[in-house]
Amino acid sequence: MSDKKTLLVAGNGMVGQHFLEAAVEAGLGERYDITVIGEEPRPAYDRVRLSEYFSGVGAEGLSLTTMEWFADNDITTCMGVKVDAIDRDGRRVTLSDGSVMHYDRLVLATGSYAFVPPIEGIDRPECFVYRTIEDLDAIIAAGGAARSGAVLGGGLLGLEAANALKNLGLDAHVIQFASTLMEVQLDGDGGRMLESKIGDLGVKVRTNSNTRAIVDGDDHRLRLEFADGGHLETDLVVVSTGIRPRDELCEACGLERGERGGFAVDDQCRTSDPAIYAIGECAAWNGRVFGLVAPGYEMARVAAGALADEPRTFAGADMSTKLKLLGVDVASIGDSLGRTAGAQTYAFTDGPAGIYRRIVVNAEGNRLLGAVLVGDTEPYSNWLQYCINDMPLPDQPEGLLISGVDGEAGGLSAGALPDTAQVCSCHNVSKGGICNAVDDGATTLGDLKACTKATTGCGGCTQLVTQILNMELESRGVAVDRSLCEHFPYTRQELYHLVRVEEHQTFESVLEKHGKGLGCDVCKPTVGSILASCWNAYVLGDDTAQLQDTNDYYLANMQKNGTYSVVPRVPGGEITPEKLIVLGEVAKKYDLYTKITGGQRIDLFGATVEQLPEIWRELIDAGFETGQAYGKSVRTVKSCVGSTWCRYGLLDSVGMSLRIENRYKGLRAPHKLKFAVSGCTRECAEAQSKDVGVIATENGWNLYVCGNGGMRPRHADLFATGLDNDALIQAIDRFLMFYIRTGDRLQRTSVWLENLEGGLDYLREVVLEDSLGIAAQLESEMRDVVDTYECEWKRTVEDPERLRRFRSFVNSDRTDPSLRFTRERGQRRPADADEQVVQSIPLVEVSA
Ligand SMILES: Cc1cc2nc3c(=O)[nH]c(=O)nc-3n(C[C@H](O)[C@H](O)[C@H](O)COP(=O)(O)OP(=O)(O)OC[C@H]3O[C@@H](n4cnc5c(N)ncnc54)[C@H](O)[C@@H]3O)c2cc1C
Ligand code: SF4
Ligand code: SF4
Repeated sequence: MSDKKTLLVAGNGMVGQHFLEAAVEAGLGERYDITVIGEEPRPAYDRVRLSEYFSGVGAEGLSLTTMEWFADNDITTCMGVKVDAIDRDGRRVTLSDGSVMHYDRLVLATGSYAFVPPIEGIDRPECFVYRTIEDLDAIIAAGGAARSGAVLGGGLLGLEAANALKNLGLDAHVIQFASTLMEVQLDGDGGRMLESKIGDLGVKVRTNSNTRAIVDGDDHRLRLEFADGGHLETDLVVVSTGIRPRDELCEACGLERGERGGFAVDDQCRTSDPAIYAIGECAAWNGRVFGLVAPGYEMARVAAGALADEPRTFAGADMSTKLKLLGVDVASIGDSLGRTAGAQTYAFTDGPAGIYRRIVVNAEGNRLLGAVLVGDTEPYSNWLQYCINDMPLPDQPEGLLISGVDGEAGGLSAGALPDTAQVCSCHNVSKGGICNAVDDGATTLGDLKACTKATTGCGGCTQLVTQILNMELESRGVAVDRSLCEHFPYTRQELYHLVRVEEHQTFESVLEKHGKGLGCDVCKPTVGSILASCWNAYVLGDDTAQLQDTNDYYLANMQKNGTYSVVPRVPGGEITPEKLIVLGEVAKKYDLYTKITGGQRIDLFGATVEQLPEIWRELIDAGFETGQAYGKSVRTVKSCVGSTWCRYGLLDSVGMSLRIENRYKGLRAPHKLKFAVSGCTRECAEAQSKDVGVIATENGWNLYVCGNGGMRPRHADLFATGLDNDALIQAIDRFLMFYIRTGDRLQRTSVWLENLEGGLDYLREVVLEDSLGIAAQLESEMRDVVDTYECEWKRTVEDPERLRRFRSFVNSDRTDPSLRFTRERGQRRPADADEQVVQSIPLVEVSA
């Protein structure tokens, strides 16, 4: 007989299984005979991915383990039975099949159950909960004969259940007691944005609704009766009104209970009986029950550590989450509702694109306390790092809200994180842990997953882990997988070549030949930009419109209150008095704020979406063209007055800037492009801070390349000297086309040059000396682009079909009533938060 002690684990859910794995790793099998007792008929499966069961991932696909694994690790299993009673004095448990088992240590991992509120009729056979594979089987069976389904509860799980009903082909409804969806994680505006987006997808949401009774229906099997007198008919109901810890074993054996239920545990996850531990959703630490898997996993590691005499401490958990609900990206970080004393909030809403972002910062404004993201969770990883690692925020924290909205990379880089930063909270993997794994030979995300488990929990950290992995590999001189995204195993440069060589004209054809899936926010605009660069494709064409970022989609730059700016091209900054008058008249008519830009154009701010076409029609009639201020394309060519007026001027800088701007206007590139031309080396046009800078000298034009202003300014490099007019244009043609063909997505010319092997010398060889023999081709490609230019706004205002998208609301032509302005220095500007009652920018209204 074995002299080992006995360790019993009650519950083989996600956390129970994680405990067993941690126990094996800690060598507990040498001290204990381990037995796991699981109520469900099968070993642990991934409840977080439960909904995938509806899309055909069978029970096996969700399984977290196998019977072989238990056998290989000498773990005895008793599946399909539950622990019914604990005799603490005798250290015995009684199982539901009547058998009795002795234990020396008992770990309770009994999870939670779906709470069903006491509503009349809720026990009818057409009412279900959403927790186990068996629950889902029952819903699928009932769904066959149903046309409509309703979910009671608009929280996280309720929305997941609604999606499941929709996938079953049912008309789906969500009945929410609170005034907005996901009220635990999202603030009111975030909840409303989510509601609007979900409504767009065909799920009908009813908020502020208290279901009083469920009775027989007339047209459907059931009729939900609400406290306000309203009702809804449906065929089946899924109840998702919260969870409760499975702590029923407390009662008879006298274990201490948390205030709101759950086995009360200490920092080692020990209950009031030191021989009994509780972990996961059945445990209450400091009175709190955690309804997410990451805290449960941490508890499992803590309990295994305590049993192996390797004590660690459970210190609470981060409850941040990132999910896709009904196809809508939603995330909440830390104190998302701003409950901390002195907390301040900043919010940003892009109504047309359906994006809502809110950050909560501390009273000093230098730490991130929490955040809400709806519609686009791209910043989640970075923001989570600021929050959980207590990292100092940039000076203007509100900048976080718009970084990334226009495709510019923003925020925190993986390099800025300390080694101790926790990157994967599900499996408690730090940045240092990832670096160590790379040291030990991991070179792919798959390797990292296998040895650290990072990204295998909720998956929210995948992007950041990939960044760290790539950074570490690069620092060790290892080649890095530069796939554009999961849909294309190519870089932007490679895709450019494929599009060009195979003459693809649409995203679909590129995807079909070289990609997989449906595409995403990374590859769609990238391919859109490549198509535009190669063929000068109209960005709002039937095949290309859906690929664009918000600014391109509306051919205008969105400003902070959701209105747009109108920027006509003023080549070289040269403008006739007549045209100036037109700009003034248009600005006056539409009450637009007017400002001369740093790139010597005139910006007209505050236009609403529906005003954009009218304004542009008037400007085009007066001879203006779009200034492309919205696109990743050529922006301005700044110039001084040069030899025409200036007494120092050596050459005609205005004439040259006009030639350059007219030649490259509309050219699409990996990043926006800025130019400048100065008439002498006094450099009044600041040409050396531009992607392409031209400065007149006594010997001709000097050409500078790859400079930029912005957040990381870089002085341009002197590329060629003493060029005449045509040689200058030829050099710029070749330089730009080479950059467009080889630059990476969102890579500025400066970063492109930094990454170019051989640097400036190599660039000179290719562009000026034609070392690769491609100069003629580059020039001819540029000629094609120049010859096919057309003003995007002109084409748009002539096309009634395209104009239909310029509306604030899906179901109405009216202007968004929530816009608030005030006047300052004689002009209109957006009202600040304390100047307006409703601060947010338009939410898309949805038809009922
Ligand atoms: C649809 C759905 C989606 C979710 N999505 C997410 C998500 O995106 N992110 C996230 O972090 N979390 C999510 N969760 C929550 C997550 O699944 C839980 O936090 C996690 O499963 C908790 O693990 P656990 O082991 O404590 O409980 P469970 O996984 O519930 O396991 C408990 C097990 O114990 C068994 N049991 C109960 N009593 C006894 C007994 N007396 N004897 C023997 N066995 C017993 C139960 O039958 C069950 O099998 C989701 C949950 C659901 C239902
Ligand atoms: S750069 Fe030279 S030419 Fe141009 S305005 Fe200045 S001084 Fe005059
Ligand atoms: S620098 Fe540019 S991004 Fe920043 S506030 Fe000014 S215009 Fe906006």
